[in-house]
Amino acid sequence: MPTTESDPSSPLTANALALGQSRGSCGLLFRPYWWDAVSEASTFDQPVQRRCDVAIVGSGFTGLCAALTLLRNGRSAVVLERGRAGFGASTRNGGQIGSGNQKFRVKTLIALRGRAKAEEMLREGTRMLDHIASLITQEDIRCHFRRCGRFRAAVRPEHYEAMARDMEDLARIADVESSMVPRSEQSSELGTEKFFGGSLLPNDASLHPALYHAGLLERIKAAGGKVLDHTPAQHIVPVGYGFRVITNRGVLFARDVIIATNGYTDGLVPELGRRIVPVGSGLIATSELSEQLYERLLPRNRVYGNTNRAFYYFRGAPETRRIIWGGRVGRLAPSKSPAAFRHLARDMLHVFPDLKDVPITHAWDGQIGYTYDEVPHIGCTKDGIHYALGYCGTGVSRASYFGTKIALKVLDKPDSGTSFDDLAFPAFPAHPVAKLAVPVVETWYRIRDAANF
Ligand SMILES: Cc1cc2nc3c(=O)[nH]c(=O)nc-3n(C[C@H](O)[C@H](O)[C@H](O)COP(=O)(O)OP(=O)(O)OC[C@H]3O[C@@H](n4cnc5c(N)ncnc54)[C@H](O)[C@@H]3O)c2cc1C
Repeated sequence: MPTTESDPSSPLTANALALGQSRGSCGLLFRPYWWDAVSEASTFDQPVQRRCDVAIVGSGFTGLCAALTLLRNGRSAVVLERGRAGFGASTRNGGQIGSGNQKFRVKTLIALRGRAKAEEMLREGTRMLDHIASLITQEDIRCHFRRCGRFRAAVRPEHYEAMARDMEDLARIADVESSMVPRSEQSSELGTEKFFGGSLLPNDASLHPALYHAGLLERIKAAGGKVLDHTPAQHIVPVGYGFRVITNRGVLFARDVIIATNGYTDGLVPELGRRIVPVGSGLIATSELSEQLYERLLPRNRVYGNTNRAFYYFRGAPETRRIIWGGRVGRLAPSKSPAAFRHLARDMLHVFPDLKDVPITHAWDGQIGYTYDEVPHIGCTKDGIHYALGYCGTGVSRASYFGTKIALKVLDKPDSGTSFDDLAFPAFPAHPVAKLAVPVVETWYRIRDAANF
């Protein structure tokens, strides 16, 4: 399809991005909008210490919550990070906080796991939401945490009916509070006619991910912990009394090691590498909207998503009336090009056509960690290396909770147990093929969503 190129000196509007009418990047910043709020202090000048109780690989929410728990219990912890601190998904995500309970319909989860296990997992999902709320309060982290509620919009009438039945099941089996909003009342939730009503989970929440991450970092530093950026763990070698962790900047001896690399997991621990497939996820941020427009589109200022297989999600950014819109990344275009984010602008304008002249200021992506059975896993490898990963795209609360729990396991605390402990952790049957197949599966999901089969 021929496209008209826009003036490179003018900002890139949502409409121009959606139509592919962009020359160069048109001032679009290919970095997370959230990073504007935090400074980029490096620890590269700090030496790698020789010994610690626990070495943690990965400085996202999992790694930092593990470190904080260990430090609060009198252990020394060193976090190793390949990029800048928080390089991974933890400072790139949408900041939507859910329980993970919507990953499967309740009936599907019961069919897969049995009723008792399904109930345990669903109740624990709710506890994960409460855990992040109390962690933020206890540690006094200023990150705009808010129990704003989640509205999940039905793309088709039958999706609304299916969600209503699922919400009833959730209430019955795990006492999860929710309500349904029919299409006739939908304008109180969203300024669009595109959906067929939706479900409302009032306890779901939102935060500013980079501020939450920065708050955790500060608490770790204050408690005497170390987070070493630009220091990848290159090899982990079991020795009699623990592990030698070899980095680009020296060797660290640790009694225990925790792997907290989620969607950035590679072959460092091959047993884990075979169990995670990284899937790209992208976001765009609009410039600030007028108060009137913002309140018409998002009158309750919640977090939002839809019911498609290849779903999109959106919310307002705290204190600025920008819209942050996310979904899968466009795999066929270079990740730092407007073309990689074109479909996000198209989806956004389908829902909110009034945003067509609004400039898009930021576009970025990150990697989520998928497991074969689509549930996160926590445990220990056959060599005794601890891990917590595989949040399948719902990781703000789950990574914080699993990070805390894996540290409690290292500490051998009685409250370290989770209902995920005894789940088998299957490898992908043909891992290299599974990694390559991700874009094909995404396209297939989009086709099925469009054709409704
Ligand atoms: C674009 C996007 C949007 C998302 N939106 C949401 C959302 O709205 N709500 C939600 O609940 N979840 C969301 N998620 C998922 C959520 O962000 C993640 O599940 C969560 O942040 C995972 O945290 P983590 O600490 O386990 O991993 P990460 O934050 O990804 O951290 C892993 C770190 O490990 C490091 N690493 C890897 N290998 C090594 C090595 N060898 N040595 C040293 N360091 C290493 C990486 O550099 C990386 O920084 C989103 C994810 C993405 C990418």
